[in-house]
Amino acid sequence: LEWLYSYMIRLRLPGGFLTSEQWSGLNEIAEDHSTGTIKITTRQTIQLHGILKSHLKPTIQSFNIQHLDSIAACGDVNRNVTCTANPSESPLHQQAYELAGKISEMCLPKTKSYYDIWIDDELIVDRKTEEDPLYQDRYLPRKLKIGIAVPPNNDVDVFINDIALIAIIENNQIVGYNIAAGGGLGATHGNEATYARLASVLGFVDSEEKALKAVYEIITVQRDFGNRSDRKLSRLKYTIDKLGIDGYRTEVEKRTGFAFETAREFKFEQRKDRYGWMQNHEGKWFYTVFVEHGRVLDTDEYPLKSGLLKIAESGKVNFRFTCNQNLILSDIKEADKPQIESLLKEFGISDYTEKASALRKNSVACVALNTCSLALAEAQRYLPSLVTKIEPVLEKYGLLQEDITIRMTGCPNGCGRSPNAEIGFVGTAYGKYNLHIGGDRLGMRLNTKFKENLGEEEILETLDQLFGIYVQEKLTEETFGDFSYRYLQNLN
Ligand code: SF4
Repeated sequence: LEWLYSYMIRLRLPGGFLTSEQWSGLNEIAEDHSTGTIKITTRQTIQLHGILKSHLKPTIQSFNIQHLDSIAACGDVNRNVTCTANPSESPLHQQAYELAGKISEMCLPKTKSYYDIWIDDELIVDRKTEEDPLYQDRYLPRKLKIGIAVPPNNDVDVFINDIALIAIIENNQIVGYNIAAGGGLGATHGNEATYARLASVLGFVDSEEKALKAVYEIITVQRDFGNRSDRKLSRLKYTIDKLGIDGYRTEVEKRTGFAFETAREFKFEQRKDRYGWMQNHEGKWFYTVFVEHGRVLDTDEYPLKSGLLKIAESGKVNFRFTCNQNLILSDIKEADKPQIESLLKEFGISDYTEKASALRKNSVACVALNTCSLALAEAQRYLPSLVTKIEPVLEKYGLLQEDITIRMTGCPNGCGRSPNAEIGFVGTAYGKYNLHIGGDRLGMRLNTKFKENLGEEEILETLDQLFGIYVQEKLTEETFGDFSYRYLQNLN
């Protein structure tokens, strides 16, 4: 007898998009082969957990029937490419979304083994002669993440990516992209050489063609110069710090054959999702559903999964995922809106979305215990109840509708992006968390560790004190993150 192995499978969904037919198919695959919960991840895709070893092949084959794949969704390659999710934000969204797809295609490993192994395709190519100019014979030293933001929205948290593209908009056109490199939020407890870092801007390129070329060569520099002897120090951020930003830029320019221009001005105004109904420039409707920590499942009180399946079965919506683990029901025609509206009501989805507090709607958590083997503490199963306990404290100070970002991860790997939240929790042991404060609201500044190894009671006491000082001492319009940054500086 062998161990009862179970696995997680993640989809490759650049820009986070599924048709309603694909969502219905996914719902069935989740029921047949996994725990049944559909998890929307912080990288705008979907993962299913608890897939038994004997179900792996049938699961991947079922995805294939839905024209979905899991290629390069994990491993030392480019991962799912993220892109500003809400098309209502800008008529230029489609252009950025298409670029996400092009980058994803460009960075796919060239081997077709996935199909031989999982889909039972015939072995047409001799694997020994397959060539892969990007990954060659060695892939990358570690995973690599790419994101595209369309200002003024930074819902993708673009600077946490190894490679970040910021669309520069002039006269309602994307005239090019600022390109940054070296973001990554992971660290290791007790290893001072590891750290969270936001990407540094290399410069501006004035066309999509140059953006693709620059991304490609940023990756080849990491492939050739990245640390392959210590996995903890092998992300692109360490290579950029080793070569220096100027050194890294020079090496990329040598390979692209063109120079980066000086970075252009841009302004982010928000990082949160816009919940509820919005209409876009084409007159189509979108409804952003609040999905707490991306967990789509049914409970006795809230049949979210059944409701979304009914909506998908109408065939009148598309499904788009956000990096804040939420879902946008999109591309709804005016004539179909009443039907979707009534389904949202019938299953309590609009009610749930409207009634959640601002803190809850700005919360993110990684999977952590009991599914992630690296987790030291709970995250997605615990943060909802912690938020319930923090809400009365906020109410006491009149802060319940403040858009404070709060994030929790079960270890310092940063999948739930705690290091750039206004309030960030990083698990250290079961029931214990380091508390970080001082990150800004827009994702442009990391937070700082404030207290270590706090249990729930200490967390609530500490936040009570901090909120009390905040309401007394904050400057006009000062966010909690900016205030705590100033507060920490005054302490030092
Ligand atoms: Fe990522 Fe750590 Fe959370 Fe696991 S516990 S999902 S590795 S942050």
